[in-house]
Amino acid sequence: MREHTTSIFAEMSTLAVEVGAINLGQGFPDTDGPVEIKEVAIAAIADGRGNQYPPPHGLPQLRTAIAEHQLRFYGLEVDPQVDVVVGTGASEILQSALMALVDEGDEVVVFEPWFDIYTAGISLAGGRRVGVPMHGPGLRPDLEALRAAVTPRTRLILLNSPHNPTGIVFTPAELREVARIAIENDVVVLSDEAYEHLWFDDSAHVPIATLPGMWERTVTVGSGGKTFSFTGWKVGWASGPPDLIGAVRVVRQHLSYVSGGPFQYAIAHGLGMPDAYYEDFRAGLARKRDILSTGLADLGLGVIPPQGTYFISTDVRPLGYPDGLTFCRELPRRAGVVAIPHQVFCDDPDIGAPYVRWAFCKRPEVLHAALDRLRAGLGR
Ligand SMILES: *Cc1c(COP(=O)(O)O)cnc(C)c1O
Repeated sequence: MREHTTSIFAEMSTLAVEVGAINLGQGFPDTDGPVEIKEVAIAAIADGRGNQYPPPHGLPQLRTAIAEHQLRFYGLEVDPQVDVVVGTGASEILQSALMALVDEGDEVVVFEPWFDIYTAGISLAGGRRVGVPMHGPGLRPDLEALRAAVTPRTRLILLNSPHNPTGIVFTPAELREVARIAIENDVVVLSDEAYEHLWFDDSAHVPIATLPGMWERTVTVGSGGKTFSFTGWKVGWASGPPDLIGAVRVVRQHLSYVSGGPFQYAIAHGLGMPDAYYEDFRAGLARKRDILSTGLADLGLGVIPPQGTYFISTDVRPLGYPDGLTFCRELPRRAGVVAIPHQVFCDDPDIGAPYVRWAFCKRPEVLHAALDRLRAGLGR
């Protein structure tokens, strides 16, 4: 695990505190989710429903709410008894799935740049990661490289759409190609859909499990933290066929056993909220995206138009910087703002080097203040 010792988030957050920088590095919203969801958690504490161990694979009401959510949004028929597992955030579910499904020496194919915990999870499972680049003008997944990367040693393709850190959403055509490769090679897809409700314009999220032949080979992961803006609560889940979910359950129950009783009641309530909640949530975030992406483009950065997630990726080369890591290490002192370089999420430095990730899930006044600082600090 030595290679996983340092974290760019720790480095940048320390630097942010030191110089009083605005932290657009870490992806968490600075406003809470709906009050009615909080009230359910508070009530579950006050009336004693949520204060002792909930059932190991998740509160039955929450498992039912997850199944109903998959049917309502995606037409997927999920049995809450055997097709669902609840855990301590999408994070624990992802790591459990990797440990459950990957054996010593198995290869896990993962798109580069990746979400930071994947590589540690692959190491914990004793697996070997094989990167597939997202590159070119729109940072699209290189599906020819994916086809070449999948071999008889491949156990799993780790998919993440909407994608962190790039901010892109895989198109239906891209998903169909991923599915084709998975089916032809008989591999499982672990699909991290933490940002399933955070997509914009016409980039609607499509779960790969909805494609023909995919339900039976896909573990689909969701996050209550991301969907309801309660990232500190750590309620996540997976759905999928009983053999795969059964395996994830075995590992997960020996990690945290159970988690967050009151929060499970609250997230179950949230999943049943009307469509207006989801639409307003997206619209509010789209406005923040527009503020930051317009501002960053005006500074001369090369903005990759974000189709989903909390993040905007920009190319820093137009500002004369050789790479994103240099840019991000200088930025807090130079401009009082923190961002995160893609290259720490890549094995191949060429893939991520030019790009930097900025979080826009912040109040408009914070985004405007950050842009003011950037204009002053970068002399624009
Ligand atoms: C935040 C995030 C997660 C983790 O979600 P939690 O529910 O907070 O554990 C998983 N995957 C991606 C891509 C994320 O950005």
